[in-house]
Amino acid sequence: MRDVAYHEPVSIGGALGILDQYGEDAQVIAGGTGLILGMKQGLPSAGHIVGLRKIPGLRGISRTADGGLQIGALTTHRQIETSANASDYCAAFPRSFAWLATIRIRNAGTIGGNLSEGNANYDPPTMLMGFGAQAVLVSSAGERSVSLDDFFLGAGKTACRRGEFLTRLLLPPQPSSFKWLYSKFRARSVVDSACVAVAAGLDLDGDHVVKSARIVLGAAGPTPIRASKAEAAIQNQRLTPSLIKEAGALARDASEPVSDLRGSADYKRDMVAVFTESTLEDLSNGK
Ligand SMILES: Cc1cc2nc3c(=O)[nH]c(=O)nc-3n(C[C@H](O)[C@H](O)[C@H](O)COP(=O)(O)OP(=O)(O)OC[C@H]3O[C@@H](n4cnc5c(N)ncnc54)[C@H](O)[C@@H]3O)c2cc1C
Repeated sequence: MRDVAYHEPVSIGGALGILDQYGEDAQVIAGGTGLILGMKQGLPSAGHIVGLRKIPGLRGISRTADGGLQIGALTTHRQIETSANASDYCAAFPRSFAWLATIRIRNAGTIGGNLSEGNANYDPPTMLMGFGAQAVLVSSAGERSVSLDDFFLGAGKTACRRGEFLTRLLLPPQPSSFKWLYSKFRARSVVDSACVAVAAGLDLDGDHVVKSARIVLGAAGPTPIRASKAEAAIQNQRLTPSLIKEAGALARDASEPVSDLRGSADYKRDMVAVFTESTLEDLSNGK
């Protein structure tokens, strides 16, 4: 592991000053579960590491005046998993964090660090993209909001620029009639990253007609993928077994997985169809 200088500013302005001073040779650290492991494995890192943990106002989960949810970037996975505010916003959302690694990782890893790694195999990005969440980034030029649709640019790449960091997430209000589920398929062990994952939200009327649908695929390409054609196919339709099968096939077509130790690309595409179908079925059965 290379020698690095560790900085621990106590304000956002202090952190930005250090990031500006050292430019390409500076990067922030939050929970350290990703960065420290990478450094120990000899992956490239900056010479100046800027700790965010002493900066006030970067953690916590609160409801917004419009009925949405705000989550500080330094909030841990476990804090979200156990948050009454998060559960009140959408019960399936905090529950989805129980799928993430082990409780020790969930106690240390942060939502900001998770999203900033730009890893489509990770769990939170899929459902957050389905919600239409915004990432709020700060730099010495000021604040900007980026929709998660535009935040993930490719494997390991995000819209966060040098000299900038993620301060919070803003989740828009969800109609109470919208029900969500997150399904994660782990092919190897119960603490593994997803082989494929599906986050689906449906607004169904009493006759099982889909008033609105959102389907996002995780671990199915370089970024989380919105299965727009599958959403369109079920919109304003009664959710029958044959329609669910059609949606599964359209989600499969939208996926672009790669072969790795969690399965071949063909296998993962088939699993996208299977898990899209089972998630829609469960939602349709009121699970
Ligand atoms: C054994 C293991 C298993 C895991 N399994 C899963 C899993 O099943 N599902 C899953 O979703 N995740 C999994 N993870 C990842 C975990 O969720 C971590 O939370 C996440 O990878 C990094 O969070 P962190 O706060 O520790 O980030 P750090 O390690 O501190 O930082 C990671 C990267 O993000 C950058 N960064 C951190 N915070 C910010 C910020 N606020 N703004 C801009 N950049 C920032 C850092 O510069 C660094 O490049 C696993 C991790 C481990 C070690």
